Amino acid sequence: MTFDELGLSPAVLQAVTDAGYTTPTPIQEQAIPYVMMGRDVLGCAQTGTGKTAGFTLPMIDILSAGRAKARMPRSLILEPTRELAAQVGENFEIYGKHTKLSKALLIGGVSFGDQEKKLDRGVDVLIATPGRLLDHIERGKILLSDVKVLVIDEADRMLDMGFIPDIERIVGMLPKLRQTLFFSATMPPEIRKLADKFLMNPKEVSVSPPATVATTVRQGLAIVPAADKREALRRLIAREDVQSAIIFCNRKRDVDVLFKSLKSHGLDVGALHGDMVQSVRTETLERFKNGEIRLLVASDVAARGLDVDDLSHVFNFDVPTHPEDYVHRIGRTGRAGKSGAAFTLAAPDEGRLVAAIEQLSGKTIERIAVDDLTGDFSSDEDGGRRGRGRGRGGRGSPARGEGRGKRRPRETAPKAKPAVEAAPPVAVEAVAPVPQPPREDNVVQMPRERAHKPREERPQPEQRAETRPEHRGEHRHDDGHRGRGDDRRRDRNRERDLGPPVVGMGDHMPAFLMRPARGR
Ligand code: AMP
Repeated sequence: MTFDELGLSPAVLQAVTDAGYTTPTPIQEQAIPYVMMGRDVLGCAQTGTGKTAGFTLPMIDILSAGRAKARMPRSLILEPTRELAAQVGENFEIYGKHTKLSKALLIGGVSFGDQEKKLDRGVDVLIATPGRLLDHIERGKILLSDVKVLVIDEADRMLDMGFIPDIERIVGMLPKLRQTLFFSATMPPEIRKLADKFLMNPKEVSVSPPATVATTVRQGLAIVPAADKREALRRLIAREDVQSAIIFCNRKRDVDVLFKSLKSHGLDVGALHGDMVQSVRTETLERFKNGEIRLLVASDVAARGLDVDDLSHVFNFDVPTHPEDYVHRIGRTGRAGKSGAAFTLAAPDEGRLVAAIEQLSGKTIERIAVDDLTGDFSSDEDGGRRGRGRGRGGRGSPARGEGRGKRRPRETAPKAKPAVEAAPPVAVEAVAPVPQPPREDNVVQMPRERAHKPREERPQPEQRAETRPEHRGEHRHDDGHRGRGDDRRRDRNRERDLGPPVVGMGDHMPAFLMRPARGR
């Protein structure tokens, strides 16, 4: 099939030709004719499949007739991250260059004033992250009653990030009579339910994700004690011919720690995660794209919107908690027949996450050794902690400063001060395996007040969203802005902040609570 057969206007077709595309991708082939007919579309597709053009191209044609009124956008595209929103904005620039559509981008990290000026002039296409859009709505600067086309993109990621209550609120403000295009990389039951609620008689289109990673990608998995991951990564980087690589971490905190560690070892590295100031994010991304930075440490959420495909390597510093993310992460290398390599560092207690990935892809990832750092997967829940002490003399000892991850039981915790490279010891932020493992002993046995961590120690919103599936329904905004929630939500959060459920000490009364026997 060619683009000419999709019913697009000459102006859009010209832009497509200018962009160098010759044939529509499967999602474009399936979705565009239905969007052009005015039908609702439920698309199961992820980034990399060409889905953005799948909704952008027909929207340009649909919106080309008509004019926007001040503060009343004619279409709304909701994106989970600033990067994705910016990328969709770029798509409208590219494909809409022969038309006169106006657009505005409402994302965190950009001044409200500039965004309001654009809204005042009237916009045909409004691309927004949910938090910032609600902020504008609350300031009375925007009316959604004229929205004819709504796009909800990356719905599963929205769910992960706790945006669904915001999305429901926003959709409640839109006219009932509208066209809705709903895209998600996966269709878990919660997403399906949401789609049923928002869409009317949708045409379902689905493209299989690049579930099988390109055969040109060399994959390897090294099982190393958690404490040795940084060293193992450095050795892998040193022995591979790395032109450009993204190093994925599951948590923002680890992005920071790893970035500083690699930098201190003289590597050419940048970092990207959701808590960084937008200008720094944009600059880092530009430098990485231009080749000024060779390595980029990133979280999944921050990296999802990066249109950087031509990587020589992908490293998974952590095994992703969602198996689909593995495919997505490593699919950034080995594109278009080029060779690429993807290496994953798995701690001994990440065996079940690896098994989930291998089950999804139907293939075993080749185990590789990183010198003497190599270990095995633990055969039980506790094994990860036991495994950490193996190997080179004293490895994993907190005295070496790398014994981070999970706190030791109180009775045995050493008093030695961690060295520079260590992350602060954490008890509850451990990556949640699938299915959920029992909680750490040392945490659940603490009285509630003790389990309550000071605010700065608690996992930040993106960490929770990315690593703790039990918090998926949490209310959180892309720009880190929390709140505007009602009392019930606040109470729920407060309850969560008090930490995990308390378990009595039973027979294990700590010595400091015991009184000498009478008469002694
Ligand atoms: P997306 O899945 O929308 O993030 O698109 C992934 C990449 O595919 C982007 O870099 C697009 O520019 C590119 N792309 C989209 N449609 C086509 C097409 N029909 N032919 C070639 N490349 C495309």
